[in-house]
Order: sequence, then structure tokens, then C-alpha cells
Amino acid sequence: MKILILTSDAGFDHRVPPPHFENPVRLRAVLDAMADTPSLAGLDRIQARAASREEVGRMHTARHVDAVFNGEPADHEAFHGFDFDTFMCRGSLNAALRGAGAAVQAVDMIMAGNGEAAFCATRPPGHHAERDRPMGFCLFNNVGVAAMHALEHHGLSRVAIIDIDVHHGNGSQDLAESEPRVMFASIHESPLYPGTGMEDETGLNGNVVNVPVGAGCDGATWRARLDNDLFPRIAAFKPEFLLVSAGFDGHRADPLGGLLLDEGDYIWAASRLCDLARKTASSRLVCCLEGGYDNGALGRSAAAFTESLSIG
Ligand SMILES: [Zn+2]
Repeated sequence: MKILILTSDAGFDHRVPPPHFENPVRLRAVLDAMADTPSLAGLDRIQARAASREEVGRMHTARHVDAVFNGEPADHEAFHGFDFDTFMCRGSLNAALRGAGAAVQAVDMIMAGNGEAAFCATRPPGHHAERDRPMGFCLFNNVGVAAMHALEHHGLSRVAIIDIDVHHGNGSQDLAESEPRVMFASIHESPLYPGTGMEDETGLNGNVVNVPVGAGCDGATWRARLDNDLFPRIAAFKPEFLLVSAGFDGHRADPLGGLLLDEGDYIWAASRLCDLARKTASSRLVCCLEGGYDNGALGRSAAAFTESLSIG
């Protein structure tokens, strides 16, 4: 078993105006929990390269890319806001490019046969960033950039994105709505930010699958919905690569979500995702950190999930 862990210290340089849930302590919590996990402690922490302008430009419009490339404020202490909760400081561009770069690099490493599955422990997260709009803590859509890289650089024909964050990945859905080679499938709490992700949002010929669940959904229900309503749709799409938006804010301790999941549910999800990758996606699996805002639960969940990534 060889799990690849990619990260970037640049993630610590992306600061946000306090108080803010999506802050550098999250990345520290994930890396510390992995260091405390015996099976992960000895693995390399691969420092990610930055994505190129061309690579992020496959997912995002030139206007979006320009806005982020030019978004850092001149003053070291200042912040530039895209909306009420999405900010850049000096250092944010590098963090965002390395977050997207980690996902791209992980795709390259898996395609080259250099690992079984990869987890990208980076921030800022990505799944709310649409093709033409940073939003919801997200500057570039990391899994979207990786999906387009798998299609355009590696010549694949079909890539699936599975999103288990408690929030709907509107940005990744935005990609699938104009890119039939991408399937986007999400389980998320509804109603909740950003307000999208209804079951009748089905994309292009059904390449968008939304499984909204209500606040109070427990692990047994969450698992059953994935098994019954989401994983079979992914298998039918026959993806050649599986990308996962791995948010852990569905944990019962999370302050931003109302689901009742725990570490055991994320261990189960990792095992199922590995099964799916093995059976339908040539054992190609890359997972990218999204949300998770109770730092203790986030660290434990991310480490347990990553430890359980075993394609076998
Ligand atoms: Zn989230």
C-alpha cells in the first residue's frame, strides 16, 4: 500500500480576517493528526508545486484567473475580499496555486503509477469556486483544475468528482454543467450554504447527481444514500479517474454543519471510494481536502480517512 500525501507550507501563508473558520490552524490540525497516526507518520509529505496559469485556466475563465493573480493587496496587513467570506492577503496566490498544483501533481503521480491513492492536505479549499467566480472561502477549484488536467493533459475521456463535504460543491457542478466529460456527484446537507444542489439539478444528460440530506442525518442514513443513490451512478458513468472533494464538516462536532457523522463514517467512505476506484476507475483516486471546521474532529477525520485509502 502506498498512500501519497501532498501538502504545501504555503497554505499557512493564506491568512483571513479573524474571526474566520477557514484559517491556517486547520492545516496544522490535519498535518499534526497525520503525524500522530503511526501508519501515516513515516510517509513523505510531498511539497506540491504551483499550478501554472494554463492549468488553472482550463477550469477558470481568464477574468477569474486575472482576478486572483491580481488580487493580493499591496499592504502586508490588508485583505482583498471577493465576497463576505472569501479573501486574499499577501501570500494567498501562492497558497491557491499550490492547492491546485497539489491536485494536478497527484493526478500526474497516480497516472505514472507512483502510488495507489493520494490525499492533498492543502488550503484554501476549492469546491465553491465556479468557473468565473471565487466564492465560499475558495479561490481556485482544486478538483476542477485536476479534472481538466486529467482530460486535457492525460487525454482521458471521463473523470468523476465525488463530493462528500457537508456543503454542496456548486463550483464543481458549474464545471460539469458545461463539460460532459466530467461527472459531478455530491451528498450534502440541504438547506445549507450555498443553497444549490437540488435533486432536479442534473447537468448535461445526467452528469450531475445531487443527494441532499437534511440536518440531523446520521451515519447509517448517509452511508445508505451513498450506496444506493450515488455510487451506482458513478459506476454507470465508467470514469477513468476518481477525484474526491474530501470535506469533513459533516462531522457531528462541526460548527458549520448539522449532520451527525463521525470518524467511522469517513473510514467507511474511504474504503468504499477505494472499492469504486478499483472497480470503475482503473484504481486511480485523488482526494482533496475541502471543509472541516472543528479542528479536533477535522484532524482525526482526515487522518483516519487517509489511513483507510487502500486500493490493494
Ligand atoms: Zn464545507
